[in-house]
Amino acid sequence: MAEKITVNADGSINVPNNPIIPFIEGDGIGPDIWAATRKVLDAAVAKSFGGAKKIEWLEIYAGEKAKEKTGEWLPQATFDAIREYKVAIKGPLTTPIGEGIRSLNVTLRQVLDLYACVRPVRYYDGVVSPVKAPHLVDMVIYRENTEDVYAGIEWAAGTPEAKQVIDLCASLGKTIRPDSGIGIKPMSATGTKRLVKMAIQYAIDNNRPSVTLVHKGNIMKFTEGAFRTWGYEIAKEAFGDKVISEDEMWKNHGGKCPAGRVLIQDRIADAMFQQILLRPSEYSVLAMPNLNGDYMSDALAAQVGGLGIAPGANIGDGVAMFEATHGTAPKYAGLDKVNPGSLMLSGVMMLEHMGWQQAGAMIQKALGTTISKKTVTYDLARLMEGATELKCSAFADAIISNMA
Ligand code: NAP
Repeated sequence: MAEKITVNADGSINVPNNPIIPFIEGDGIGPDIWAATRKVLDAAVAKSFGGAKKIEWLEIYAGEKAKEKTGEWLPQATFDAIREYKVAIKGPLTTPIGEGIRSLNVTLRQVLDLYACVRPVRYYDGVVSPVKAPHLVDMVIYRENTEDVYAGIEWAAGTPEAKQVIDLCASLGKTIRPDSGIGIKPMSATGTKRLVKMAIQYAIDNNRPSVTLVHKGNIMKFTEGAFRTWGYEIAKEAFGDKVISEDEMWKNHGGKCPAGRVLIQDRIADAMFQQILLRPSEYSVLAMPNLNGDYMSDALAAQVGGLGIAPGANIGDGVAMFEATHGTAPKYAGLDKVNPGSLMLSGVMMLEHMGWQQAGAMIQKALGTTISKKTVTYDLARLMEGATELKCSAFADAIISNMA
């Protein structure tokens, strides 16, 4: 019998054998990549658990399909369903132009308070990469989703609001040119600590060796610098002896992390862009403010050649939404052509979040095998020598046939 996922007081989830999971198919290429993803997720769950577990999919609406059916881009029922069922998956959504909505994705994240944008980055054999040793990259980014210059507190140059802020700053002894646009960068202890806590918990649960706080605190002391300070504080407050700071490791343990503890370290953002290229094997889980996370996610995904297959999730307290990281690619809509890898690997993250690791691992392995056999969709085929180009649906079938 199909049942709901429920959340315990400590934030962990209970997943029944037949959980109801809402999905948003998405616009443009959404229906193609969702059909391919659903087929692969169902096959992996069936094979991994011998039929004992099965997802009951529940369609909910957002984007163009919602507008057609209900007259609204994001119906209230969609928010209600995600809150009620706790875990959801979505394809890409068109950003309506001139309708007063900044972005459907941003609205979903804000309304549901999905404060962590999580992006795992790893290499799949056979994918063409611009660097020499892409297999050394195996990192998971935790990007703060609700604060920083992304909070949307902005006024255009010449507006009365911009003038008011400029005047206020003048009264505080800070000079701003009168023809400036104004953006505000709020970063709180609350926002930082809940994000860093989630990243450390992930590292502990998944035997990851370290969490690196990536910030620009040498220049922006009371925002980015405070992110670093609050990050170390919550590590100590919430995890005690399960973690160790880099300082303490050098002072008391000769620079060696004691077994069983997660190392908490920090790096300045600009230096970190060099580190991910020069010493990628030294980094595992990364926690960072919104803007740094935006840049770092794309830079790391490019490093493994996989911008098109990079998965993502937006996670809050008790609610998680897994999604393709690319857009709706409207020119390919309905052609059964594009790569479903991003949504599929987001589905893998979802299975891991549900505690169904075997099924997730089966998909990752089969996807790796399929790519290394050079049976791939057009985007990877055009970069590989001697590849066989498959349609989106045929790529999903190939993955299923490569499942052990
Ligand atoms: P896009 O849809 O990501 O497409 C840009 C290009 O990326 C495509 O033309 C294609 O490259 C490649 N690409 C994207 N998805 C692919 C896939 N699954 N397989 C293979 N190649 C893929 O970006 P856009 O054209 O800037 O945006 C289109 C719409 O999507 C806009 O309305 C935008 O607001 C929205 N959007 C939504 C999300 C989201 O829902 N999360 C994210 C970003 C954008 P080639 O042309 O080289 O083949």
